[in-house]
Amino acid sequence: MEYKNTLNLKPSPLSQKARLPELEPKMLDAWERADIYSKIIETHAGDPLYILHDGPPYANGSIHLGTAMNKIIKDMVVKSKSMAGHLAPYVPGWDCHGLPIEHKVTTELGDKARELSKSEIQKRCRAYASKWIDIQRKEFKRLGVFGDWENPYLTMKYEYEAVIMDTFAELVGRGSVYRGAKPIHWCTHCFTALAEAEVEYADHASPSITVKFKLEGKHPPELAFIGNRDLYLVIWTTTPWTLPANNAIAMHPDFDYVAVEVDGDALVVAEGLLNYFLNDIGKTGATVLGKFKAKALEGRKAIHPLHGRHSLVILGDFVTLEAGSGLVHIAPGHGQEDFEVGQKYGLPVYAPVDESGRFTDDVEEFAGMEVFAANKAIIESLRRRKALLDSREISHSYPHCWRCKNPVIFRSTPQWFVTMDSTGLRKNALEAIETVQFIPPWGQKQISDMVRDRTDWCISRQRAWGVPIAAFYCECGEVLLSADVTRHVARIVEKEGVEAWFSHSESELLPPGTECPKCGGTNLKKEMDILDVWFDSGVSWAAVCEKHPQLTYPVNLYLEGKDQHRGWFQSSLLTSVGARNRAPYKAVMTCGFVVDENDRPYSKSSGNYVPLEDMITQYGAEIIRLWVASSDYKEDVRMSDETMKRLSDAYRKIRNTARFMVGNLYDFDPDKNSVKDDELAYLDKWIMARYRRLAELLRSAYSDFEFHRVYHFLLDFCTVDLSAIYLDILKDRLYCDGAQSKGRRAAQTVMWNILIGLLKFMAPVITFTADEIWLLIRRKGMADSVHLTYFPDDKPRAEDTELLEKWDRLLRLRAAISKALEEARKKKTIGSSQEARVLLTGDGALLKLASEDLNLIREMTISSIVEITDKTDDGFIKPEDADGLLVKIEHATGKKCQRCWNWWKDVGPHGAHEEICDRCARVLTPV
Ligand SMILES: [Zn+2]
Ligand SMILES: [Zn+2]
Ligand SMILES: [Zn+2]
Repeated sequence: MEYKNTLNLKPSPLSQKARLPELEPKMLDAWERADIYSKIIETHAGDPLYILHDGPPYANGSIHLGTAMNKIIKDMVVKSKSMAGHLAPYVPGWDCHGLPIEHKVTTELGDKARELSKSEIQKRCRAYASKWIDIQRKEFKRLGVFGDWENPYLTMKYEYEAVIMDTFAELVGRGSVYRGAKPIHWCTHCFTALAEAEVEYADHASPSITVKFKLEGKHPPELAFIGNRDLYLVIWTTTPWTLPANNAIAMHPDFDYVAVEVDGDALVVAEGLLNYFLNDIGKTGATVLGKFKAKALEGRKAIHPLHGRHSLVILGDFVTLEAGSGLVHIAPGHGQEDFEVGQKYGLPVYAPVDESGRFTDDVEEFAGMEVFAANKAIIESLRRRKALLDSREISHSYPHCWRCKNPVIFRSTPQWFVTMDSTGLRKNALEAIETVQFIPPWGQKQISDMVRDRTDWCISRQRAWGVPIAAFYCECGEVLLSADVTRHVARIVEKEGVEAWFSHSESELLPPGTECPKCGGTNLKKEMDILDVWFDSGVSWAAVCEKHPQLTYPVNLYLEGKDQHRGWFQSSLLTSVGARNRAPYKAVMTCGFVVDENDRPYSKSSGNYVPLEDMITQYGAEIIRLWVASSDYKEDVRMSDETMKRLSDAYRKIRNTARFMVGNLYDFDPDKNSVKDDELAYLDKWIMARYRRLAELLRSAYSDFEFHRVYHFLLDFCTVDLSAIYLDILKDRLYCDGAQSKGRRAAQTVMWNILIGLLKFMAPVITFTADEIWLLIRRKGMADSVHLTYFPDDKPRAEDTELLEKWDRLLRLRAAISKALEEARKKKTIGSSQEARVLLTGDGALLKLASEDLNLIREMTISSIVEITDKTDDGFIKPEDADGLLVKIEHATGKKCQRCWNWWKDVGPHGAHEEICDRCARVLTPV
């Protein structure tokens, strides 16, 4: 008789090979047809709201792995919050205005760009952004990210553009916006001011020169020791081109300064830098004439070696002894500290450099020269005038333009600013930060430090693709910027888009009857600068969270890369505090960057980059999701081929565990066949206790956004608890016991409950496969998709603790016996463990434990018989960590049951059957 056909064995409907790259598009289609996102929102209609507000990626170019990681983490947050019992709408968005798109569009247009009006350029930028939004939307959806993809927010939608202006009007109305000349980072290639977040630091070779300025007039009495020598102040700079704009020299109020004799002159340097200075100019052992404090020179005038005008000696705490001479060259038009100290001393903000980086006609000798090129000529001129003490080249970290990668300059021009201090914005923002939870916590200090140290926010840009600053200039010189006029223009933009600003005349844009408040004139000219694009995305809390019917303000969470403390987190904070007096978020979470196995940035320029599309084709989006989940994304996250192979392996293990359970549930109807808790086998009770503990751990890991813990808990439970222990032991009961027997139904009850639970807990991470399996096992009355369910609320029970402790010992016993079985297999004493007769002796707690239920130990070790003996003859081994237990494996006596392959004593003829066991006989001959 062919007994194989009498076993409860059917092929699993879940295929062993996932073929994710083929499966996923089918799942995506099905979800799209079912409108899964709307269904999730309906499912959670009555639940408390949880809002993760999406930070808008820039609508330019295909997404890369970092962008994918960001969106997948957000998706895991949203899905897990939903399943934990929240209404968690997710409205994705895109950042659409700004230089990168304008740059691309004008470059593609070439010479034609110059013939087009600004509003024509804007129209083309709009079309360009739309194209990339469509592409990126497809790419994000392909990753299994759920959201309101058909109604995203776009910073270039007319209504969004109008909110940008309305929020700006709010700040204008509160007196937070001013126009001033101020040094700012300026790209001479892109012709625009750059925000701090638009500047990147990279190594750059600069000249390093030491220059002397002759002090004018009689020597002060404190410096009488100089005698009749000429007195020179020594400064050091790496930007010789800023020297024409020098109008002061700063000394530290507390340092000691010395005058040293060099070639008959007295040169002033800080005492602490004397040796450094002498070394630089190649002198040793110069005579120190005397020592004094800077106060003696404050207010005196030095003669500028290039143009002969005055340079004022001033005091400043920012002077250091790190390099140079301890006297700092000050050009308030070309440096932040220079500007600030210059304000204190009333120095003019002089910056004789035009927008293309050339000296203006003001600058004798160097007019028309590009500043970096002029460095050489300036050094030569200083040498001719005998003012140059040293000149060399150094390599140092220098600001570069994020867009064109060229070195930028600091240049003061008239710009619009949001004041950080005069309306208390800095103070209020710092207070608001205290109300926010930061994950990880160091983010709080990071953003606080940045807000504390930052300068006023320069919000004007000399470009076309963006939102107008609705200011007007009168012939009399008066500048008109008001909340009312801005709101008036916002209503026009709401109907026609930002194109309206450049395409309409001033009289069409201004409220009727507007006149200059100073001279009453009506010949007003509109501002051509636009708003910083960071302002656009920064007001998404107003344009999206406050306006969208499903959202609210403030939101629960902002989640972006760790560089956004200086970017979006900050621009959102400043606009929200500035207009609403509070932070727009309750919590801020950051993720790291993607790096390769050598911790280099994972990018096209590093040469280690695999396009996302190729990775999806090779592994499937599910494995990329698993990679995101498995990483501690609060740090930088590694990506390599090896990582992906390891994760594919982990995925296969989880899938195979599920496959086994699905395969053994083919004849199980949970409504009809479920077995009550108290009728479960001891082994079943153990795995249920383990599962309940797992459920609690998973809920808490999800609630802490610790997805790497979710991954490890799930993987360990599948591979160890289920695959290596429970399901392995269960096989005999599942396959060989009667199909309707209590034992098999109990096993099925347990597998059903655990599988359903696992699928729900897997769903936020292993999004495709969890639903694939759910649809395979779905019974009447169950949700249409696992994504429409809640996490199970199984909690550990009081009795679980004792049970799990006892099982820890039982599993230790099992491990000890397994070791002996393994050795017996190697020695060919037995083939499979079912051929084994296990003899136990020795002493200790494990032996005592075994004696309590030998049949359980037999079942756990999948052997045919376990006996305790008092013989200790040869062949006993003493496994480690087994409390003195001795184990010996012999081949079981008797015969092998032809149906279940156990070597049981009762194997023999049973009715029509030659060699089967009692259990099998009862199964084959139902009473
Ligand atoms: Zn540039
Ligand atoms: Zn006027
Ligand atoms: Zn049998």
